[in-house]
Amino acid sequence: MTKKAAPAIGIDLGTTYSCVAVWEHDHVEIITNDQGNRTTPSYVSFTMEERFVGESAFNNAAMDPINTIYGVKRLIGRHFSDTSVREDITLWPFSVVAGANDRPKVVVNYKGEEKQFFPEEISSMVLIKMKQIAETYLGCTVKDAVVTVPAYFNDSQRRATKDAGVIAGLNVKRIMDEPTAAALAYGFHKIKDYSKPQNVFVFDLGGGTFDVSLVNVCGGHFEVKATAGDTHLGGEDFDNRILNYFVEELKRKNNKDIKDNSRALRRLRGACERAKRSLCTTTMTTIQVDCLYEGIDFSSTLSRTRFDELNKDLFAKCIELTDQCLKDAKVHKNDIDIVVLVGGSSRIPKVQQLLEEYFGDRKLHRNINQDEAVAYGAAVLAAQLSGQGNDVVNKVVLSDVTPLSLGVDTIEDVMAIVVARNTSVPTKKVRNFTTVKDDQTSVTFNVYEGERLQASKNHFLGTFEVSGLSPAPRGVPSIDVCFEIDADGILNVSGTVRGSDQTSKLTITNEESWLRKEEIDKMIEEAKKYKAEDEKHKRKVDARRELDDYAYEMSKIMRNQELLLSLISEGETQKIEDEICDVIKWLDLNNVPSVEASNSKLLGLKKICEPIVAKMKN
Ligand code: ADP
Ligand code: MG
Repeated sequence: MTKKAAPAIGIDLGTTYSCVAVWEHDHVEIITNDQGNRTTPSYVSFTMEERFVGESAFNNAAMDPINTIYGVKRLIGRHFSDTSVREDITLWPFSVVAGANDRPKVVVNYKGEEKQFFPEEISSMVLIKMKQIAETYLGCTVKDAVVTVPAYFNDSQRRATKDAGVIAGLNVKRIMDEPTAAALAYGFHKIKDYSKPQNVFVFDLGGGTFDVSLVNVCGGHFEVKATAGDTHLGGEDFDNRILNYFVEELKRKNNKDIKDNSRALRRLRGACERAKRSLCTTTMTTIQVDCLYEGIDFSSTLSRTRFDELNKDLFAKCIELTDQCLKDAKVHKNDIDIVVLVGGSSRIPKVQQLLEEYFGDRKLHRNINQDEAVAYGAAVLAAQLSGQGNDVVNKVVLSDVTPLSLGVDTIEDVMAIVVARNTSVPTKKVRNFTTVKDDQTSVTFNVYEGERLQASKNHFLGTFEVSGLSPAPRGVPSIDVCFEIDADGILNVSGTVRGSDQTSKLTITNEESWLRKEEIDKMIEEAKKYKAEDEKHKRKVDARRELDDYAYEMSKIMRNQELLLSLISEGETQKIEDEICDVIKWLDLNNVPSVEASNSKLLGLKKICEPIVAKMKN
C-alpha cells in the first residue's frame, strides 16, 4: 500500500447493517463495499473451509443458519442470564452459551471443530471488514476511528464496543452516540444559519434498536438534551411478528409446524423481511417460498393493514418513548423545529403517519439518507479529532448525556443517585455520605446504573471500599463519593474521607465483569491470523468478480444477433449463449468459489468467446 497520511474513519456499527465513511476533499464520502453497496450486513458466517464477513456471510445465512452469526449488538456487554438475552436466544438459529462470569458466547462449527466466540470478537470481525472496505478505497492503512453506539447503551455495552475496536486493531478515538451523529449529519451544512437555537428530534428506528433524542443545535454547538429508547425494538421485531403470523398459518392450513426447522424459518424470515420492505410502496404483497418444508411450496399474501395491525403495539411504543423523551427534556412537542428520520425502519408508512399525527405536519425531515446519516456524523467527528477537517468541521462542538442514572446503594438498598440521567458528559459529580454505625472504620459502596429506586434492581457495575476512617459516632465521618464520566461515557469512581488523605478508587475496568487484558490480547492475536484468511477470501472474490464481469460483457455482445449471424452460424451462436448461461447459473449457486474454479471457468469461456470477439472487432 502507498504511504499516505491515514485519515480517521467513522463507523456505524449497526445491529443488522454497518456503514463506513471518511472525510475527504472537504466532504464526507460514504464508502461502498466490494459489492458496490453503501451498507454492509453485520454478519459473520463460519464454514468447513473459511469465514465470511458481510455480504457473503449474509448470503450464506439461508444455507447455513446455525453457523451464521448476526445481531450480536444485542449481546454485547450483556450477561447471559439477562432476560433480553434469554429471549433473543429463542429467536436465533445459532446457539449461545454461558461463558465465564455469566458472559454469553456464540457457538459455531468452524472447519469441522466447535468454536466459541465472545460478542466482542464477532463485532471486531465486522469492524475489521469495515476497516478493510475503507483501506481498499483509500489505498492506505487505517488506524483511527470513531465508532457509534445507541444512546441507550450502558457502561458495559460501551466498554465492550471499545474492546471490539481494540481487538480489530483500531484506535477508537471516540465512542459516539448514534443520534448525535445523525443530528450532526443533518445540521452540519447549516451550522452557519443556526444563530438561533434549534430543537432537532432524532428518531432512529433500525434493525435491532430504537433511539430517540432531543438535540439542541446552535451555531456549531450540538448538545443532546435527552434520550430515550429501547435496545430491543426494531425491524427484526417487525419481521418476527410477520414470521409468527405465517408459522401459525402453516399450522392451521397445512398442519405443519416449522418452528424447530431453522433453515425453513430462516428462508421464511427472509421472505417476510422483503414483504415488509415492499409494503412501504404497495398496500398488498405476496410471499412465496418454494420447497419451504417437507415439499410444501409456501405462498400467501400480506396487506399493509395486516402488517400495521401485527405491529400495532410496537409502533405505539415508539410514540410512547418519543413522548417520554420530550417529557424528560421538559420540551413541548410544538417547540420541536425538525424531526430527523434515521434507520431503515423509519421508512415504514405507519410509523411516519403516527409521527406526523404526534408532531403535526411538515416537521418530518426525510432528506438525509436514513441508512448513512450515522456514519456521516461519525466521519465528521473523526476528522475533527484527528485534526484533518476544515473550518466547518472544527466549529462542531458535541456534548452527549448519560443515558442512565448512576449512583451507589445505601444500607436500605435505596439508589442514591450521584449523576442523574441525561446529565451532559464529560462530567464530574460529588455526593457526600457518612457512616450508619458508631466507630465504623470502613464503608463499602456498590455502584449501579439504572432508574429503579431499589438499588439492587439496577445494573451492578462494581464495588469499592473506603477504609481508614477514624472511629467516631455514626453520622459524623464525611465521605465524598466522586463520579467522573469521560467523553466516551465511561465511568471512574472514587471515594475520599474528608480531613484525611484516604482515597479509594474504583475504575470499572474490564476485569470487573467483562474481558480481561489477557483475553483481549489473545483475541488480537487470533484476529491477525484471520487477516491472512481474509486475504485468501479476497482473492476468491476477485476471481469470481472477473468471471462475472466477463460473462456479463459477453452476454451484452451476444445481444447483437444481426452482426453475430453474419459471422457465425446459428448453432454456434446458440452454443456460446448456452455456455454463458451455464456460467451465470454457476455464479448464482456459488457464492464464493475457489480461485481455481473461477479461473478455469473463465478460461473455458474465453476459449469459445475470444475467436468471435476477434472476428467482431475486424
Ligand atoms: P441498524 O442500524 O439497527 O443495523 P438499519 O438502520 O440499517 O439498522 O436498518 C435495518 C432495518 O431496516 C432492517 O430491519 C430492515 O429490514 C429495515 N428496513 C430497511 N429498509 C426498509 C423499508 N423500506 N421498509 C421497512 N423496513 C426497512
Ligand atoms: Mg443504526
